[in-house]
Amino acid sequence: MKVTLLGTGDAIGTPKIGCKCPACSDAHRGGRSRRMRFSVLLESDEDEGRVLVDTSPDLRWQLLKKDISSVDGVIWTHAHYDHYAGFGDFHRVQSHVDVYALKGTMDYILNYLYFLKPVRHDVLARQPFEIGGMEFVLFEVNHPPLETVGVLAGDGRKKVVITSDTNLDIPAASLDLMRDADLLLADAIMPPGYNLNKHMNAQEATELAKSLRAKEVRFTHLSHLYPPHEMALKRWPLGHDMMEIVL
Ligand SMILES: [Zn+2]
Ligand SMILES: [Zn+2]
Ligand SMILES: [Zn+2]
Repeated sequence: MKVTLLGTGDAIGTPKIGCKCPACSDAHRGGRSRRMRFSVLLESDEDEGRVLVDTSPDLRWQLLKKDISSVDGVIWTHAHYDHYAGFGDFHRVQSHVDVYALKGTMDYILNYLYFLKPVRHDVLARQPFEIGGMEFVLFEVNHPPLETVGVLAGDGRKKVVITSDTNLDIPAASLDLMRDADLLLADAIMPPGYNLNKHMNAQEATELAKSLRAKEVRFTHLSHLYPPHEMALKRWPLGHDMMEIVL
């Protein structure tokens, strides 16, 4: 299975418009602090299947960079703008897209995208389903006040867990599913010292990764409040845009 981090930024993206902080300056210079909004691409072996987790407002550039013109399905983790708003761009590239989400999330997003008619698949949390030769399970996380799920993806050989946006207070049933992943992609929006009730900071994401015994960890959904990427990388396993991880 191949995992590509199409966008590793928070809702604002880096550079933040108008900001001259060290990370934003690095981003303006073309460094790896430059982060588009959140999307992840999962590909099964031998190119059999391709699934997008979330459709970033930057999706057009992400697909151009990866030269992708079709996917087997889209999974939406929750109804925040930075996780679905790019879907409209995709419509002209691929007209019938299978989309998967919990019912409440689906209702909200398809209301926003009322002019599009993707093929809707309402999914229940903790009920497995299959797309493109990969098996998926959505599990509840904790990102108040929205209904939000993380994503477990497997190809029978390797296991990938994406926390989506969440604080550390994840339900026990979900934690059971998240254990022993080959790769954990964890929300770590800010460095330690900042505390948000909707997201984990880097210290909390580190704790989570340790308790779940993930073999490999990458932090994502990162804000400009981190030091510039290369410097931050000395302390935390930050992902960067277009990073490919082969499992
Ligand atoms: Zn987000
Ligand atoms: Zn900044
Ligand atoms: Zn969110």
